[in-house]
Amino acid sequence: MGNEKKWVTGMKCVRMHLGEPDASGRRSPTAIPGSEFVLECDVVVVAIGTRANPLLTATCPELKLNKRGNIETDEDGMTSIPGIFAGGDIVRGAATVILAMGDGKRSARAIGEYLQRVPVGA
Ligand SMILES: Cc1cc2nc3c(=O)[nH]c(=O)nc-3n(C[C@H](O)[C@H](O)[C@H](O)COP(=O)(O)OP(=O)(O)OC[C@H]3O[C@@H](n4cnc5c(N)ncnc54)[C@H](O)[C@@H]3O)c2cc1C
Repeated sequence: MGNEKKWVTGMKCVRMHLGEPDASGRRSPTAIPGSEFVLECDVVVVAIGTRANPLLTATCPELKLNKRGNIETDEDGMTSIPGIFAGGDIVRGAATVILAMGDGKRSARAIGEYLQRVPVGA
């Protein structure tokens, strides 16, 4: 919401409740009709995101990306730069914590094996 100067004056919200389960058994949030209310504020910080921070991929041209702008890796998580590994959302796109943790675990093993193969002093 804003005033005539187009400055933020508040945020219009609506209360939600969980609806009936869908075919997969998951209950989705559903707006409660007539429950709208306004939270007064003069700044709104949008702090949710479904894309990885693009700074790294935008500033590291040696990193091969897929068409969605995520980092490409081999099955061990190694990127197009030998010895550099990646996993989680920056590789998969928006995913889950458990997948990111799995990537980290898999890459940790691969990093260990990679370091065993690197000649001393390289
Ligand atoms: C609103 C929301 C709700 C979610 N809810 C769930 C949920 O209920 N369950 C679930 O499993 N998943 C959920 N997720 C997804 C989950 O948060 C991500 O899949 C997970 O955090 C990915 O982990 P990650 O380590 O790949 O990335 P992140 O957790 O995003 O970690 C990346 C880190 O790298 C840092 N970073 C970025 N760029 C740089 C840079 N250039 N230099 C140094 N550091 C940098 C960032 O600050 C961040 O700390 C949710 C995501 C969002 C946005």
